[in-house]
Amino acid sequence: MTGPPLAGERGWPSATAVVVGVIGDPVSHSLSPTLHNAAFASLGLDWVSVAFPVAPGALASALPGARALGLRGLSVTMPFKDAVAAIVDRSSPIATRLGAVNCVVVEPDGLVGHNTDGEGFVAALRRGARFDPAGRRCVVAGAGGAARAVVLALARAGASEVVVVGRTPARAADAAALAGHAGRTGTPTDAGGADLVVNATPVGMGGTPAATDPPLVDPGLLSHGQLAVDLVYVPRPTRWLELAAARGAATLDGLGMLVHQAALQIELWSGRSAPVEAMWAAVAGQRPEVPAPGG
Ligand code: NAP
Repeated sequence: MTGPPLAGERGWPSATAVVVGVIGDPVSHSLSPTLHNAAFASLGLDWVSVAFPVAPGALASALPGARALGLRGLSVTMPFKDAVAAIVDRSSPIATRLGAVNCVVVEPDGLVGHNTDGEGFVAALRRGARFDPAGRRCVVAGAGGAARAVVLALARAGASEVVVVGRTPARAADAAALAGHAGRTGTPTDAGGADLVVNATPVGMGGTPAATDPPLVDPGLLSHGQLAVDLVYVPRPTRWLELAAARGAATLDGLGMLVHQAALQIELWSGRSAPVEAMWAAVAGQRPEVPAPGG
């Protein structure tokens, strides 16, 4: 075989289609299969992506099972990103540094863990907001898995400063350390002097307990010349982004990060350039239902 199998005349997917999937709990609302399948259709590949709900106690057997069944890979969403990092046979440097995996590639010699969240975030910044983090001052609100990926990616992209604002000091310090010399913890007022302010908490996410919680960074601190990015994309835009826009800040919601982290997964699995526009078109008009964890 000289490359990935192409979709045949007998329709898609064929009985011999290459299978990938997304594992999570819950996972039925994930947009990942829609994104992956839009990419496969655009590339003409006889591949298919489906959602696999996995009970937490079944994770340790689900991964070897994926290999036994000949799956090409898995996208990994909440709550399994950390646990999968401990199960795979080896990991990329970024996934190792984060201790979290959002993409597994099934290679002949084992399961390889990657994390495309941070790179997907930076790609979304560049493409969706024409924002290059190099030399920029950045504030990240939150210190969980998404925040950690964003902090590391901003530092790798050359941000001059990455300030983490979190509600749990030890977690904020741990996340800030990922940015090396550029990283430190801070307070919400740091947002006033930043070029980029990111909400990486679930605050504002429709249908969750955090939907109406106060944001860590008051949008009243933002103004013209700044970019506000909310990783949350349910609803689009969030109230926080609406208020940031009313203050004159440029805004970007979390759908771009979702598309780009999935595009990078397509490239890891297939070795082909991902058709980002086709993937965007597949989800841009959708109203994702809650729960819609990233990925
Ligand atoms: P996580 O690991 O649970 O971390 C959540 C972080 O937010 C923690 O630091 C937590 O504080 C903080 N937090 C939670 N509730 C808060 C509240 N009411 N007030 C202030 N801080 C609060 O979650 P995650 O995986 O990082 O995800 C965070 C958000 O990003 C979710 O809404 C998720 O859907 C979204 N996300 C989007 C994408 C995308 O592609 N667009 C990708 C990944 C995640 P503590 O440190 O005190 O626990």
